[in-house]
Amino acid sequence: MATTSKSAAVTHVGKIRANNQDSGYAGKQLFIVADGMGGHAGGDVASAIALTRIMETDKAYASAHDAEFALQSSLIAANSLLAETVFEHPELTGMGTTVSAILRADGEIAIAHIGDSRIYLFRDGELKQISADHTFVQRLVDSGRITPEEAAVHPRRSVLMRVLGDVDAAPEIDTTVHDTKPGDRWLLCSDGLSSYVSDDKIQAVLASEPAPNLAADKLVKESLDQGAPDNVTIVIVDVDESSDSASIPPVIVGSASQPLSFEGDAARKSLRLPTLLLHPLKSTQHEDSHFEPESDEYLNELILEDRRRARNRRIGWLVALALIIIAIIAGLFIGYRWTQSQYYVGVNGQTVAIYQGVQQNLGPISLHSVYQETSVKLSSLTAYQRETVRDTINATDLTDAKAIIRRLSDANSN
Ligand code: CA
Repeated sequence: MATTSKSAAVTHVGKIRANNQDSGYAGKQLFIVADGMGGHAGGDVASAIALTRIMETDKAYASAHDAEFALQSSLIAANSLLAETVFEHPELTGMGTTVSAILRADGEIAIAHIGDSRIYLFRDGELKQISADHTFVQRLVDSGRITPEEAAVHPRRSVLMRVLGDVDAAPEIDTTVHDTKPGDRWLLCSDGLSSYVSDDKIQAVLASEPAPNLAADKLVKESLDQGAPDNVTIVIVDVDESSDSASIPPVIVGSASQPLSFEGDAARKSLRLPTLLLHPLKSTQHEDSHFEPESDEYLNELILEDRRRARNRRIGWLVALALIIIAIIAGLFIGYRWTQSQYYVGVNGQTVAIYQGVQQNLGPISLHSVYQETSVKLSSLTAYQRETVRDTINATDLTDAKAIIRRLSDANSN
């Protein structure tokens, strides 16, 4: 972790992952977050290569549009570099990385973005997401097929439609120019933050902590409090009046801060392209970042598969519910049958009667009824017998109940 007075870059491997595939950069004019992916093969390499290449654009530009062009060119160059790297190291096939970058120039900010890392602007106490997620679920939201709330819990929410990597020679990169002013706070983060910590929570942290390094640390802590299943990287940039940050050395965090290593990792598995395209979830199921090429045919297939799964889940639930209800009804029926095989002797008005069932009631349901009236009157019994009958006398069965009645009758007729 390292910080400057006006910006900060912090990363954390999280609580589940074995290695950090994110890279972050806080430079003079340029700020970047890159989130690498590719199973065991090369996510860390991808984000490091891309970030190192894009870092070359950290210079002064005459206009924001010059900066925007330089940034876009550097992302395309990084994409080519990743393809070349895969060509030389086929075991890295399928690696890719998101990039979210902002480059300050002349009171404005140029933005280049691909993937699902995020760029936020915190201005006048309000947090606004500036970048669009290039995810499968965002496509579904944009086309009105699901709501943003459904997207947040969607099983495919981490599936990416666009990244830098070796699949697409000309990836579509979002670029824009934004105005910015003193007091603005820009936040760049990997989905290790935005997928697990709500925008409201992020806004509260940015509002409450003026120092960028402390705010970044607090955001990492928020993610850790949520279990931090993924690498989390935060870059915060505060825009202020004296924007001369030339004396502050750039900060690199995450895998780009480590020496680049291609080989020697026994865990690296080769992901061949056809496998990745046909079975993206199968081939990288231990990762939460999956890349899928942007083809409408494939998208439609995914949508249909999601619907099938949702329908199967619903049917599964209904069957389970029906079985539970049947089990409860069967249990109640067997229980009721048992109570009706029981007999006892008790009082009915002024006479003694044989009851069928048990004395207890099940809520409003009575579990007993008079089985047989007798001619034995309460007044004919001794005080002790009356009390006993009022308390009821349990019989082992109907014959036993009749025997009890006979004894009461005989004892008092003599
Ligand atoms: Ca991630």
